[in-house]
Amino acid sequence: MVESTLMAPIPHGIVYKEWMVGKAKDPLSRTVTCPESGCWLFIGGLNAYGYGVMRHNGQRNVMVHRVMYERFKGPIPDGIFVCHTCDVRNCVNPDHLFLGTPAENSRDAVNKQRTAAGTDNPSSKLSEDQVIEIYVSPLPSRELAEIYGVRSTVIQKIKADQIWQRVTAKSGKTAFRRNRGGQPKY
Ligand SMILES: [Zn+2]
Repeated sequence: MVESTLMAPIPHGIVYKEWMVGKAKDPLSRTVTCPESGCWLFIGGLNAYGYGVMRHNGQRNVMVHRVMYERFKGPIPDGIFVCHTCDVRNCVNPDHLFLGTPAENSRDAVNKQRTAAGTDNPSSKLSEDQVIEIYVSPLPSRELAEIYGVRSTVIQKIKADQIWQRVTAKSGKTAFRRNRGGQPKY
């Protein structure tokens, strides 16, 4: 077992330059740290459910949080889920991950849905459509934060291409750095 603290997360707001040239193989090089929650948000490819995915051991679309769990905490038994204490699906911070049976996993989801009402979990509240609306909106961050019920730092990060890039790339409003160094690979 490896202590996750041995590997410091990428400092907040810094997108590792390997991401831009598309050579990154290490999931850690494609995370940004959310200062409020401590989540390591994966900013590479996301699957339809919002989980980070990558190529791993020759397989495509392997969920990054499972890779990170195995890397830092140990093997995942067959049929067991890797769940998030933070409820942020693209978070890959091993300290936010725990093993659960499928039954525990859905119970956990139900509990979280109940407790998440009225809180401002920084990343998990927005749908992909809402993220795109925010990305292209000319309204000031503070106003958008009120409309969508998230912190204005979240709005600023979306607009600065620091989080949800895979989603905002669909908006047609292209950030210059995505055109450099070819297509990102994962
Ligand atoms: Zn987290």
